[in-house]
Amino acid sequence: MAELTRMTATEIAALIASGEASAVEVTRAHLDRIAAVDDRVHAFLHVDADGALEAARAVDAKRAAGAELGPLAGVPVAVKDVLTTKGVPTTVGSKILEGWRPPYDSTIVRRLRAAGTVMLGKTNMDEFAMGSSTEYSAYGPTGNPWDLGRIPGGSGGGSAAALAAYEAPLAIGSDTGGSIRQPGAVTGTVGAKPTYGGTSRYGLVAFSSSLDTPGPCARNVLDAALLHEAIGGHDPRDSTSIPAPVPDVVAAARAGASGDLTGVKLGLVTEFSGEGAEPGVVAAFRDAVDALTKLGAEVVEVSCPHFQYALPAYYLIAPSECSSNLARFDGVRFGLRVGDDGNRGLEEVMSLTRDAGFGPEVKRRIMLGTYALSSGYYDAYYGQAQKVRTLITRDFTAAFEQADVLISPTTPFVAFPFGSRTSDPYQMYLADLFTIPTNLYGGPGISVPCGLSDGLPVGLQIMAPTMADDRMYRVGAALESVIGTLTAPEL
Ligand code: GLN
Repeated sequence: MAELTRMTATEIAALIASGEASAVEVTRAHLDRIAAVDDRVHAFLHVDADGALEAARAVDAKRAAGAELGPLAGVPVAVKDVLTTKGVPTTVGSKILEGWRPPYDSTIVRRLRAAGTVMLGKTNMDEFAMGSSTEYSAYGPTGNPWDLGRIPGGSGGGSAAALAAYEAPLAIGSDTGGSIRQPGAVTGTVGAKPTYGGTSRYGLVAFSSSLDTPGPCARNVLDAALLHEAIGGHDPRDSTSIPAPVPDVVAAARAGASGDLTGVKLGLVTEFSGEGAEPGVVAAFRDAVDALTKLGAEVVEVSCPHFQYALPAYYLIAPSECSSNLARFDGVRFGLRVGDDGNRGLEEVMSLTRDAGFGPEVKRRIMLGTYALSSGYYDAYYGQAQKVRTLITRDFTAAFEQADVLISPTTPFVAFPFGSRTSDPYQMYLADLFTIPTNLYGGPGISVPCGLSDGLPVGLQIMAPTMADDRMYRVGAALESVIGTLTAPEL
């Protein structure tokens, strides 16, 4: 039997279902792998070995009793530390929530448990999901398994690195501006941002509520689709959840794997297909587009003239929403409390707690947001940004009249060395140049590996209309049928 940690989720589930491997064996193999490599990778903030083994034993017992197992039963999964897990530490990569053990599970985690997956632990992330490199985690960065001196992307770098380092076959991320897709691209893994409202935000620690979208991460497209199906769908506990079934992403991934794209129209976004990206990224992207054409797809150029304003609009909308959402971290309700010595007033304790508990990037966002929302500036900043958001949505609507999906590189550059973009926030923000429009529109997007540049992974992004998530899985699986999956060098 091949090494359990090298297998796909689909293969692992089949082994468990047939009894060739137990869920406990599979879990132990992954816990051993974490023990062997995670001191170097640092993908995990917390490993819940006891909880994982208990969940695995329950799957084995269920099988022994002859009960039917779901398609992901017994498969290990790593969960980004932005989702609440009952009794298991949830920090959001911040000191302000250090030591907090939530009293409830997020809907995503509840569905993961119901599907019989085995949660290995919580993964590292930029504090409050603000960043593109995990360098803004209050607990130290995560290394990219392709080169441990480079970033694994962010904010969900821990989830992507756990996959690329074979510490987990599946992971959960959250994407507000690109935090599932960009880490997927730079680690050679697959990351999908579902349609906004297609996956529940209940128990997802809020950053920017009109953009935040939890979603699946995996090493191949079919596994991502299976995970998407397991976590997606309507949730009455989330007021923006869409009351409709999950698009048939699994069937679409299976159909795409045949490598036939006859009749599919791919829209090459003019504004994103050359400018602003590294030459190596553009070259890998163009080769992949040629490969997709050979599978029968028709490529049409579509112009989306307002996409160039997406990044500035995002950096008004997201900080504005964050400045309101993060007001709840006051030193009273959760986690850290500083200076509560009986001699200080409430306001001073709040101020000391926030000063000690929030890192510099989070403070920057809160200040940007409160400024953009302040009276006198509201119309000029927040109001204008909302108008730009409408124009971007119109660009998407027009583009989808000409093409079934849109394609671009996922991110302008491959994994960069630690420290190379931390001194200038704008250089860091540019990592999401190509992913942010999708968030502002609310549609789905996926990053699928499309090749290497100087030995480092490059991702191709496929964007689809809202609630047509299946389309991106079909094209993604077709691309994978030509490119194959990528394997990081031995650690
Ligand atoms: N990198 C972007 C930011 O810093 C997006 C983050 C995300 O998607 N959570 O805001």
